[in-house]
Amino acid sequence: MKIKISIPTERIHNPIISESIIDTGIMLNIMVANIDSTYGELIADVNDSRFNGIKKALESRGAIVAILDRPIHRDEEECVDCGACISVCPMNVYSFDETWSLCVDEKKCIQCGMCIKMCPHGALKLGE
Ligand code: SF4
Ligand code: SF4
Repeated sequence: MKIKISIPTERIHNPIISESIIDTGIMLNIMVANIDSTYGELIADVNDSRFNGIKKALESRGAIVAILDRPIHRDEEECVDCGACISVCPMNVYSFDETWSLCVDEKKCIQCGMCIKMCPHGALKLGE
């Protein structure tokens, strides 16, 4: 499953991620990391069965952990296959097939919301 790990300012100088991985032996596949001296936010993949373990380890060190379980949803009635969403998605969720129809691989979505702002037809929203 995909998870978001937020690291607050007061913990940003602690090696929260590496300590949690070493202590639990649970691997994280870090897909996106935005970290500076004031705040950190990471998107990572973790095996479903290991989620509770890594969540406990991260939260005990001051991180905030949330499951990303609302991937993008496209309204096929509204979509005009313009391709604007393809260019902004950082995870390559969108592509055209051989007939230039839009294909959506929801499993890759990290719920950043970039494509929603770009869609000229309001065809995209995060799932409920
Ligand atoms: S929400 Fe972000 S990751 Fe998901 S499809 Fe849109 S641009 Fe891609
Ligand atoms: S930007 Fe909107 S209308 Fe254009 S292809 Fe993507 S979902 Fe369809």
